[in-house]
Amino acid sequence: MGYLDDEVKHLRSVIEGLDGRLKALETKATGGAAPKKTTEEIRMILIGPPGAGKGTQAPKIKEKFSCCHLATGDMLRSQVAKKTPLGREAKKIMDAGGLVSDDIVIGMIKEELENNAECKGGFILDGFPRTVPQAEGLDAMLRSRNQTLQHAVELQIDDALLVARITGRLVHPASGRSYHTIFNPPKKDMTDDVTGEPLIQRSDDNAEALKKRLATYHSQTAPVVGYYKNTGIWKAIDASQEPGQVWKSLLAIFDGDKAKASSSIGGGILSKIAHRS
Ligand code: ADP
Ligand code: AMP
Repeated sequence: MGYLDDEVKHLRSVIEGLDGRLKALETKATGGAAPKKTTEEIRMILIGPPGAGKGTQAPKIKEKFSCCHLATGDMLRSQVAKKTPLGREAKKIMDAGGLVSDDIVIGMIKEELENNAECKGGFILDGFPRTVPQAEGLDAMLRSRNQTLQHAVELQIDDALLVARITGRLVHPASGRSYHTIFNPPKKDMTDDVTGEPLIQRSDDNAEALKKRLATYHSQTAPVVGYYKNTGIWKAIDASQEPGQVWKSLLAIFDGDKAKASSSIGGGILSKIAHRS
């Protein structure tokens, strides 16, 4: 045990030393200014059909960037659970696989972006915008805050793969965390790993409602992809890969940002190190 403890301590000090050296080099390369944290900058949306993996990947992005994760589906389900007038109306639409009105969901996102402290570190939107008017509403909202969207990431997957994903999905309603009976089972049957609370199956997660949700996706949300292709911030990921690979593809997109940032500070830190040696 003593040897292992010493080895861990030694490795920690090596890592801390390297970390300090890297920070010093970055500070030098940025002309003395502290390197900008990506946490302050992330503003992105995840587009994809039901079951593509938006709710699986978004919490990882939230953790990486300390930003907020806004899922309009989760917000609407919370209204349904509270049996508010909006919730009662929304439930009928959601169970039928339709879309709640643009004004309502735009209003919900606006309210969060303005008042949710977590969104100060940026945001990841999941399940919004789902129509072109919602995308236009988001653009107008960001313009009024002098902000722009950085990434519109499309999770691409064939419809045929989604039935198994959706019919096996289990969710923890309070957090929105999702599991899968086969692909991502909870540690304990029907129980959330983090809180120990019960998991449920969504009332719209059945094969029949999925057909309607997919039809809605192709007719109303597919044009949103075209909208972002035109703005130049669209990127696509193969969402049929296993979750770890999807995450790596997302990281590659974020690394692209870093490469862009470092090339704008005179060729980047690595090229500076390479020149010296
Ligand atoms: P969305 O939020 O896009 O509707 P989810 O992230 O909730 O989709 O994923 C739908 C279901 O598929 C969940 O049960 C989840 O555990 C599972 N899942 C997510 N990503 C993958 C993947 N890459 N491979 C297999 N199953 C996945
Ligand atoms: P989701 O949790 O993203 O699968 O969403 C569940 C349901 O909520 C959808 O099938 C829609 O009925 C509704 N919904 C979620 N987000 C939106 C949105 N941006 N616009 C309209 N309806 C939405």
